[in-house]
Amino acid sequence: MSADCIFCKIVAGTVPSTKVYEDSEIIAFMDIGPVVKGHTLVVPKKHCDPITGVPPELLQKLILVVQKIAKAHFAGLGAQGLHVTQANGKLAGQIVPHVHFHLIPRFESEGPQRNWVPGKYASNEEMSQYGKKIRDAIR
Ligand code: 5GP
Ligand code: ZN
Repeated sequence: MSADCIFCKIVAGTVPSTKVYEDSEIIAFMDIGPVVKGHTLVVPKKHCDPITGVPPELLQKLILVVQKIAKAHFAGLGAQGLHVTQANGKLAGQIVPHVHFHLIPRFESEGPQRNWVPGKYASNEEMSQYGKKIRDAIR
């Protein structure tokens, strides 16, 4: 637990939340500032951040809970689409530095939603250079 972390306080129960799922390692609760009503967060009870700092077995469990909540968005909220997103660091827009997945239901009434604008590489060579940097760094 990290003393200043709002999600650790939610895990501890000292800050209230509207929980939708809980097991020994993971909770899911309603986001207090929903992008769309139904917006849910899936959070490990253990304080860890960013995604690279999450123990692999816990990350596997987290993504399975994400899938469980995704099914409930479709079945329970009648979602017609769903965004699953996860931010790492201020430059990615992260506010709470305790790893979490956002599930944001999407509905036909909003029209198609896309969070980014596609760009392009100057050349295939440039794309290959970026690819190489990533490939060479995989451990
Ligand atoms: P981030 O930008 O870090 O990926 O997202 C943090 C999310 O946590 C935001 O969508 C914000 O609305 C939500 N949030 C922040 N504080 C609280 C809180 O006290 N309770 C709940 N339920 N959600 C919170
Ligand atoms: Zn925390």
